[in-house]
Order: sequence, then structure tokens, then C-alpha cells
Amino acid sequence: QNQGESGQNATEKLLEVAEKFRSQGGKVKEAENLEWRNQPVEKRLEYALVKGITTFIDQDTEEARLKSKRPLDVIEGPLMDGMNVVGDLFGSGKMFLPQVVKSARVMKQAVAWLNPYIEAEKAEGQTKGKVLMATVKGDVHDIGKNIVGVVLGCNGYDIVDLGVMVPAEKILQTAIDEKCDIIGLSGLITPSLDEMVFVAKEMQRKGFSIPLLIGGATTSKAHTAVKIEPQYQNDAVIYVADASRAVGVATTLLSKEMRGAFIEEQRAEYAKIRERLANKQPKAAKLSYLEAIKNGFNIDWNAYVPPKPNLLGEKVISQYPLEKLVPYFDWTPFFISWSLTGKFPKILTDDVVGEAATDLYNQAQAMLEDIIENKRFDARAVFALYPAKRTGDDTVSVYDMQGNATHRFEHLRQQSDKVTGKPNLSLADFISPAEQHTDYLGGFTVSIFGAEELANEYKAKGDDYSAILVQSLGDRFAEAFAEHLHERIRKEYWGYQPDENLDNDALIKEKYVGIRPAPGYPACPEHSEKAVLFDWLGSTDKIGTYLTSSFAMWPPSSVSGFYYSLPQSEYFNVGKIFQDQLEDYAKRKDWTLDEAKRWLAPNLDDSVS
Ligand code: SAH
Repeated sequence: QNQGESGQNATEKLLEVAEKFRSQGGKVKEAENLEWRNQPVEKRLEYALVKGITTFIDQDTEEARLKSKRPLDVIEGPLMDGMNVVGDLFGSGKMFLPQVVKSARVMKQAVAWLNPYIEAEKAEGQTKGKVLMATVKGDVHDIGKNIVGVVLGCNGYDIVDLGVMVPAEKILQTAIDEKCDIIGLSGLITPSLDEMVFVAKEMQRKGFSIPLLIGGATTSKAHTAVKIEPQYQNDAVIYVADASRAVGVATTLLSKEMRGAFIEEQRAEYAKIRERLANKQPKAAKLSYLEAIKNGFNIDWNAYVPPKPNLLGEKVISQYPLEKLVPYFDWTPFFISWSLTGKFPKILTDDVVGEAATDLYNQAQAMLEDIIENKRFDARAVFALYPAKRTGDDTVSVYDMQGNATHRFEHLRQQSDKVTGKPNLSLADFISPAEQHTDYLGGFTVSIFGAEELANEYKAKGDDYSAILVQSLGDRFAEAFAEHLHERIRKEYWGYQPDENLDNDALIKEKYVGIRPAPGYPACPEHSEKAVLFDWLGSTDKIGTYLTSSFAMWPPSSVSGFYYSLPQSEYFNVGKIFQDQLEDYAKRKDWTLDEAKRWLAPNLDDSVS
């Protein structure tokens, strides 16, 4: 989520351009320019596909149908030709993902018009191949997967989309039953990496011989090379860095001429990555866990008075006014989810990207208005502020109002040897261990309910573009709610910064006092702590948000975390830990070493056995 300065600046520039474009009524002008309507129907269909215009698609499709011998000819003729133009423009960088997804919507509507006329003669054998897509067991997010599915779909592939939280067995059985040519797995949170390894092993064991594609926010080329590829040798395992590459990869893998050389090349690359990582000298010296604890962050707690929250206990919120959240939107991740960022520095010089991004932004604004006006989302939150104490080197306990310890949070500590003289941080360091005063810890869960349902409504109407847009706006609302609620915590409920006055840019840059670290993120990367957090807050009972078997949150547009008030508290990265800390953590969590290794896998140094 750290998009960095340039992404941020670029987003600002984009928004500026988009707003200007809107205020000049740019959209109206384009809509009124109907010269393209004078072209022959084939050209009109092509134009509508390329520009993503659905206004005339039914009438144009009907005109083409009346002109042709069979209704199927319209699909195989002008519509496919139009989609090929889209594919070419996309392939040559002249169109971008949101536009392609919009084209797919036009195509779908045209096909829907023709369907009643197309007799039983199903277009079997017409597709380039069948691709199974699934977000793995325990994981819930699927925007990236949905985009890939739509893009492949409009490039002539048949998509079998199994959705989210799909167990390996179901993935493999469906691939067999549906005779799929490729399996594509997606994952957002780190426990999914393990699940993908499992799927790969199962594919090998069951004798599959079709390519396996790996994608999603938590995946990487290195992980694919080291952990997944060696498990499945029957066919290719390919890491797909982002949605825009999926078509190229699928086409190559299903081409008899190209696949051999491509797979060989990929295998060689992964082998090289494995070799490089195996020979890598440990970059930074490590500290023993004990040394790291000794070098932890420390202040004179005797000279510190922790601020007492104005509200102690929990608070539950539902139906929070959505319009209050919009000013807290961070648009950069929105564009990232549509693969549009990175290209932003070019935005002012490159009209093509500018147009794609501006149009997407405008569509998002229109949908935003609808969501707010018709209260289509229910923004819910639960938060708690309770007494807390550091009760172990890396342990924080929280207490009820009678002083009984109710929950314990176990943290991890940085173990790299810092030449800079900086401390080896753990989130436990930012809570006072002192007996003579009481410190406090906060926790929260915010969720947007209704986004999945609304997305499904759009999907049912064949409008994947709007469905994906809804999901990405659900995420924006959840993040904005987390930001807004945190501000209210600082100013009112905890009230340790009553006079804070930060604009949205400053909030996005984390200029506030205190932090809200989220389990699963670098300062507290171990996801199972979310279960303790949820139990403490009562998130499931009180607002209906729940955790999957991998500790992903449902609904997917959810954020949870801790509140810390200490001015010196900061976000940091735990990084790699070693055998000694692994064993200690296993003891604290009452886990076997194997369980601990599984949940800590992304943070284990290579030396850990
Ligand atoms: N503005 C972005 C959200 C960025 S995520 C958006 O709208 O999508 C920022 C949040 O991630 C922080 O508030 C914190 O909750 C979490 N976070 C960031 N860095 C972290 C770290 N190192 N450790 C734990 N949590 C972190």
C-alpha cells in the first residue's frame, strides 16, 4: 500500500485534469459528437466496442443481425473483428484495462441481444481455450482476478470463475470436469502463498498437465520460483505480474508453436532465481532474539503520563453517513487496482492514458453518487479503548474495567543488526510496562456491507465493468472509514489530539500522532492475531465481520487494526526473524513449531530449519 511519492503526485495531477475535464463538460461534448453514427454498421460496432459505448449497441446489433444469414455470423464477423481491434490497441499500449473491461461490457450486451436468435448451435470450439480462475481457500479479494477474467474473456477465452475462498479440491475437480486448459490462482494475503503451494503439489500428485498461473497482491516471482514451481513439474508454472500480461501469457501457453520455447525460458529464469537466492550471502548481520530485545525502543516511562481515553470500552457504529467518508478517499490505490498507475508520470504528456484514467474516474464519480444517494453501502465499525500493559518482552495485555486481563497480543521484533544505532522495534515497545500508571490500547474493525451484493447485481446483468468498479469503491470506502474513524479517535474518543488539523494529503502521508497498525502488515505481519483482535472487539457479533480460515476478513472491504497513542510510535517492518524468535513465538502462541513456521513463513530467514 506504499505507493510512494511519485504515485501520489501523479494521482493528484490526474485528479486535477479529470476535474477540469468534468467542469468543462468534456463528457457531454464527446457524447454529443455522433458523427460515427454515419458509418456502416460494422464500423459502428467496432467504434462502440473500442470506445465502450453501449447506447446504440442493441439497435446496431439488430441491424447487423438482419443483414446477416445467421445471427452467429454477427458474433464471428463484426463483433469479433471489433474485439480484435481492441486486443491490438491493448497489446500495443494504446488502450488500458478499464477501457478493455468496458469493451467487454459492450460485447456482452451485443451477445445477449443475439442469444435468443442463436439456436442450439452453441459456439463450442470457437474459444481460444478455457481458463479456470479462483481466489484460493481462505482468501477473499478478487478485483484483480475479476479484471483478468474479463480481459481474457474479451480476448476470446472461455472463463470458469469459481470466485473466492475456493478449496484446492474444488479447483482441481472443476478443471477436470470442465476440461480447462489453464488454471489461474489469485491471492491477496500471505497465508494464501502456502495454499498455492498446496494446489501445485496436488496438481502434480493427480497428474495434471496444464499450465498454472500465479497472481495477486501477495504473490511474487521469487516465491513462485522457490516455492511453487518445484512442486509442479508436469507443465508450466508462470507468475503473472499484473492483469495486463495475462492475455499474452495465456496466448503463448496455448500456442503449439510458442509454448515450448516460452516454458523453457521461464524454467531457466526460475532456476536462476532459485540459484541466486540459495547463494545469497545474508545481507545484514542478525542479532539474537535476546540482543534484539535488549536493543528495543525504550523511553523513561516514569516521566511519561499516558493519555486517558475520553471513552473507555467499546462503541458500535452502523449506517455511518457515506458522504462524510468521501473527503478521506485515497485515489491512488484505486488506479493501482486498475493497473493504471506507474503510467501516471506520463499523464500530462500522454493523452491516451489520461483519457483512460479520466474516464474511469468520471465513471467512479457517477457510481459514487448513486451509492451515496441510494445508501447502497452500509458502513459499520466497532472500536474499543481499554487499559493495557506491556506484560512481556513482546506481549501486550489488555484489561477490562475491573482490571482483569482479557486478551494478550503477541508481537514480533526486528532482528536485523542495525548499523545505524536504531532500536530493534516491536509493537510491544510502544505500550508502557510501568506499574505506577495505566496505559491504553485501542482496536477497530470497519467494514463496508453491501458492496458484494451490488457487484453481483451488476454481474447478473452482464456488466462486469460496473461490478468491478463497485468492488473497488467498496475498498475505497473501507480505507476512508478507517482513516476518518482514526481521526475521530485522536480528536474525540481518545482525545489525545483534540486540536489536530490535518488535510487528507497529510493523513495519507501518515502525519498524525500515534499509529493504527494492522495485523498482516509489516509491523505485525502474523495474520492469526486478527482472531484475538476480533474476539476482543466482538467484531463478528457486533457488526457481522468475520475471519476466514486464513484470517482474511469478510466482507472483503474491511480494515482492522490497533490504535496506539504514543507520539514516538511509528510504522516499521519486522522483516526476517530467526530460529530463536520463531521458537519463542511458538511457545507464546501455544503452537507446535510446524504451526508457527506455517503462519510466519513470509518472515522466516532462509537459515531457519
Ligand atoms: N491510504 C491507503 C491505505 C494505506 S494503508 C488506502 O486508502 O488504501 C495504511 C494503513 O496500513 C495504515 O494506516 C496502517 O493501518 C497500515 N500500515 C501501514 N504500514 C504498516 C506497517 N508497517 N505495519 C502495520 N500496519 C501498517
